[in-house]
Amino acid sequence: MGFNQLTGQETIKNRLKDITADPSACSLLFTGPEGIGKHLFARETAKAILCENRKADGACCECASCKYIDAGTHPDLIEVEPTEGRKNIRIADLREVIRDAEVKPQIASHKVLIINADKTAPDCQNLMLKSLEEPGAHLVYILLCSDTSRLLGTILSRVTELNFREYTADQMKSILREKGGADLSDDKISFLTAFSSGIPGKALSLINDPDFMEERDHIFNLVMNIPKMGYTDLLYDEFTYFDKNRDKMDELLLLMIWTLGDIASAIAVPDPENIKNSDKKREIIRFVSENSAVTLINISNAEKAVTDFIDASHVNTSFETSCCNMLLRIHKELCYEKNS
Ligand SMILES: [Zn+2]
Repeated sequence: MGFNQLTGQETIKNRLKDITADPSACSLLFTGPEGIGKHLFARETAKAILCENRKADGACCECASCKYIDAGTHPDLIEVEPTEGRKNIRIADLREVIRDAEVKPQIASHKVLIINADKTAPDCQNLMLKSLEEPGAHLVYILLCSDTSRLLGTILSRVTELNFREYTADQMKSILREKGGADLSDDKISFLTAFSSGIPGKALSLINDPDFMEERDHIFNLVMNIPKMGYTDLLYDEFTYFDKNRDKMDELLLLMIWTLGDIASAIAVPDPENIKNSDKKREIIRFVSENSAVTLINISNAEKAVTDFIDASHVNTSFETSCCNMLLRIHKELCYEKNS
C-alpha cells in the first residue's frame, strides 16, 4: 500500500522512506503505547525493504514479495511473539530464530526480524544484543516496545528509535471510519477518540467490545438519575453492578469522572464545547436545567468521592464499604431535595 496510505505519523513515515531505501544492517525500535500502530508500520516497513520493485513511497504491492507478505508467507520476514500460553518469548526459540536469520536470506536481498520486545526478558535481550552489535549486512531488526524502561540501556544505545504519537481527532476519524465501520457517527467517534486518548487500537477494541457501550450507558444513566434514586437503588442495585464488574473498575470510574466533568462544564457555560460524552450533550444540559441547585462545588465534591474510592482501593479497604460510601456521597451532592 505504500507509506502514504497509512494515516498520520508523518515524521516517522518520512524517516522510514529514507531508511527503507538503504536498510543494510539497520536496527529500528518502534516505541509508543499499545494499539498505536507499531505493528502495522513494522509490516509496511518490512514490505518496503523486501519489495522487488520498491517505489519512493515504499512497497509496490504488486510484486511476488509484496504478495507473500500480504499472505503471511514471506520466508524472509520473521515475526517473533511468545508461543501460545507463555508470557515471554523463550530464549531457546529466539536463539534459533537469530541463528537462522544470520545466514543468507532465502529469496529477498534482506531478512527482516520483527520482535515484540515487550515480551523479552533480560536473557533474551542479552542474546539480541550480541546480534545487534554486529548484525549481518542483510539483517534488519524492528523491535516493538510500549515500555522502554523494560529494555536494557545497551539495547537502546544500538537502535534507531521512532516514537509513535497519539493521533489527532481528524486522523482518528479517518482510521475509525475505515476500520470500525462507515456508519459511526461523528459524536461517537469523538467520544471514542477522547476515551482512547487518540490510540486507534484501543478505540477499535472498544467498538468491538459489545459490553463497553453498555457499561458506558450504565454509568452515564446512573449519574443522570442519581438525584431520583433511593437507598435501595444505590446500596443494592448499583452496588451489585459495581461488584459484578470489579475487573473493569478503572474504566467505570473514569466514565463516572467524565460524566461529572461534563455536568460541571454545562453548569459553567450554557452551551459547552468541551463535553466528553459529546453524543449525550443534550441530556447533560437537561440535567443541569432540571437540577439547578447543584453547584460546581457539589460536582467537585462528587468527583472527590470517586477519587477517594480509587485511593481506598489501593490500600486494601473493604470494597463494599468504599463503594457504598462513594455512591452515597455522590447522591448527597447531586440530590436536589438534600441540597435545598
Ligand atoms: Zn513489491
